[in-house]
Amino acid sequence: MTPVTTFKGKNVALFGLGGSGLSTARALMAGGAHVHAWDDGEAGRLKAVAQGVPLEDLSRANWSRFSALVLTPGVPLTHPTPHWTVPLARAAGVEIIGDIELFCRERAAHTGGSPFVAITGTNGKSTTTALIAHILREAGRDVQLGGNIGVPILDLEPPAEDRIHVIECSSFQVDLTPSINPTVGVLINLTPDHIDRHGTMENYAAVKERLVAGAEVALIGVDDPYTHAIGARLAANGRDGQRVVPVSGARALDWGFYVEEGAVYLREQGSAPEEAEQLAVLKGARALRGAHNAQNAAFAAAAAWECGLEDEEIARGLLSYPGLPHRMEEVAKIERALFVNDSKATNADAAEKALASFTDIYWIIGGKAKEGGIEPLRPYFARIRKAYLIGHASDDFARTLEGALPYERCETLDVATAQAALDALDGDAQEPIVLLSPACASYDQFPNFEVRGDAFRSLVNGLPAILASRRGGRT
Ligand code: ADP
Repeated sequence: MTPVTTFKGKNVALFGLGGSGLSTARALMAGGAHVHAWDDGEAGRLKAVAQGVPLEDLSRANWSRFSALVLTPGVPLTHPTPHWTVPLARAAGVEIIGDIELFCRERAAHTGGSPFVAITGTNGKSTTTALIAHILREAGRDVQLGGNIGVPILDLEPPAEDRIHVIECSSFQVDLTPSINPTVGVLINLTPDHIDRHGTMENYAAVKERLVAGAEVALIGVDDPYTHAIGARLAANGRDGQRVVPVSGARALDWGFYVEEGAVYLREQGSAPEEAEQLAVLKGARALRGAHNAQNAAFAAAAAWECGLEDEEIARGLLSYPGLPHRMEEVAKIERALFVNDSKATNADAAEKALASFTDIYWIIGGKAKEGGIEPLRPYFARIRKAYLIGHASDDFARTLEGALPYERCETLDVATAQAALDALDGDAQEPIVLLSPACASYDQFPNFEVRGDAFRSLVNGLPAILASRRGGRT
């Protein structure tokens, strides 16, 4: 844990008692702050009481006593409407911050700027964050990985000179971190998303920009117009001493880090094209398939390089990266068939990445459909041998697939998995892929995408027995 000492002896209002809220409360208390915690839900309040966190109904509190309001990032600061605590804090002149801000202040107070890599973007945040941490760890560095991925930041070990914090930041978290100043700031990409929470694309982009604007080294994507503009603006007007370095997952650059034909390169500013240095070859990195992962790999290699790693260390880390669960996760190989869990693909955009990465696909889709359905995926239908429909979206998806692809209504994941496996192994493809990439939310049949992916994994593990008995029955 990182005790928050910068509010020692002060009264701090804290709203939101989910996982990260409770972690923040504990860290503030460990550092000597007087916490006044609240949540609209009783479940959170009961958990707080069980952990000895003092409650106070903030709607009736005397706000002039508070030095800060600490919000959990799920609580709206601006859009669609500010949470009721926000105007109360503002009226009393109380600053509103989040747990990453508390970390930044600890880092400033106790270290001369310990290594801190902060990652944001619309897509690929978790993959890039986990990949950076993996490369650094494999090279023997002391790494703390968390933030918006896994462990809340204040549950990590405290900042120290020889310890690297690798922290994923959602835009909501950046919004609550006014003094964010990482050693290396990473902005991967920006596409319209979460506009409901930020009002407009301009607002959303402006929040993301803050993470790199405060960085010593700003690694900024150039593959979309929004990040491209941010990079150009910071390069022209960034703060003194800042290095702004372009990164592309898609094309060779005049200078910066990029992926070209399956390898990551660094070309120094002012150098000739043939002087570009090859940092790593991605062929063989099984957990980094697809163009989207080339972008993630370019950023991870760049961040590792900026942290002082040697080329070989970067190459080794990229190759041995095991991947994250539920994101094109290779679950098992049974005979010739590879089983891939991409349960995180809850919309067509995400499923597209998996479809573009494989051929001879036996595709399990469905759940609670998102707007637009799977129509945008039509260009990939030639890669698919057959589709297996589950959940609410079945009728809708069947209409799209009719006449374009063989499909089967399976209703549930267990039926779909067994049927897809059987067909894949009976077919003539050399390495058929049984892919769960549902292009749907899971809520009609599962509590969340993790439970859906875990269910797929255990179904696959039970397949050898099912296949044996089905085949036995057939002959
Ligand atoms: P995030 O943490 O930003 O949600 P993840 O790394 O968890 O991103 O990846 C989630 C999904 O987003 C992946 O399954 C893939 O479909 C897609 N994705 C990952 N990286 C990228 C990228 N660089 N560009 C576009 N889409 C991506």
